Amino acid sequence: MTHRLIIDCHHHLGRDPNYAARLVDECARLSIAKVCTIAPFGEEGNDRLAALLPQYGNTILGFALVRWAEDTPDDIVRYHDQGFTGLKFIIPPAPYDDERWFLLYEKAQDLGMPCLFHLGIVARSDEPGHMLVRNDYMRPIYLDTIARRFPRLQIIGAHLGNPWYEEAAMACRWNPNLYFDLSGSTLKAKKPRFLDELLWWTPFTRYRDPEGRHAWEKIVFGSDVPYYEIHDVLHDYHCTMSTLGLSEELKWKVLGGTAARILGVGDK
Ligand SMILES: [Zn+2]
Repeated sequence: MTHRLIIDCHHHLGRDPNYAARLVDECARLSIAKVCTIAPFGEEGNDRLAALLPQYGNTILGFALVRWAEDTPDDIVRYHDQGFTGLKFIIPPAPYDDERWFLLYEKAQDLGMPCLFHLGIVARSDEPGHMLVRNDYMRPIYLDTIARRFPRLQIIGAHLGNPWYEEAAMACRWNPNLYFDLSGSTLKAKKPRFLDELLWWTPFTRYRDPEGRHAWEKIVFGSDVPYYEIHDVLHDYHCTMSTLGLSEELKWKVLGGTAARILGVGDK
């Protein structure tokens, strides 16, 4: 029996000092059990999020923002000790699969910390760290390298690799430990049929994934919008999945069942 948990795998802590309380209230209203929340950019971002976890940790699962220039495996251990569930990676100064990062991924794997990677073209911004962006360092194919090299690391790629969707879908099929969310403009801009053509394999097709799973068992719910818009993204997921005629069981896996397994929460 599929456990009916809704888990938002991709959320960012807002600047408002009351943001966490508002987020938790909204999650309760939408029956969202857990929300993977990424620390804000800036020097104090991770500490700010860590400080909220004792109070809100039942709903908010913290994802520490890895600082490429500074962080060592010891910092990954520190994030773990601070109560972070997972790690978020974005805007690397070399491709995601550059070997210089392997010690970080290895430590995350050892500690059982799922890793969320931004993929594709990142929003343009004047925030610190955003001025030296190389979008091609954030292609989905780099997650294929990492997934093969670290087979116990649970990896979520954001935005289905927008705009490198084909690359994301094939990497998704071949790697049992690689998942994707559909946050961002894709669900608004593309027709369900577009996603259906990308996510075509089932347990019964001639070509399958190595574990015989349905393609949508590799897709998770992620919103990547402020708390007051989560309902809208949830609605888009529902509409897309209904249009494609996904079974109820498969829909619940997308909404939370698969994420529960990745994150090690709730009923498996
Ligand atoms: Zn995001």
